[in-house]
Amino acid sequence: MPKPRRNWIQEERRKTLGDWVAFCPACGHVQRYFVEDEEELTAECPQCSGALRHRCPACSAPIASAFAVRCEECDAEVRPPELFGTTIRKPGR
Ligand SMILES: [Zn+2]
Ligand SMILES: [Zn+2]
Repeated sequence: MPKPRRNWIQEERRKTLGDWVAFCPACGHVQRYFVEDEEELTAECPQCSGALRHRCPACSAPIASAFAVRCEECDAEVRPPELFGTTIRKPGR
């Protein structure tokens, strides 16, 4: 698994909420999970039964942010940049 690069705020957040996120590209449902629970992660969205995405479709890197539009590792699109008509923006760095 690629080694994630994070700042300390992200590290803190990740310890309390879960390491990574899985989301549903269809309805926007987001679920956090810890890497040790990855095997128990449901592949199906509990809201719309769509397929949950929890890794980059291009390089299989885990997704760290519920608002990620592009993969942190390879810059591939992990979700359509627009959902419900609103453009998802990364919080400023
Ligand atoms: Zn869904
Ligand atoms: Zn990637």
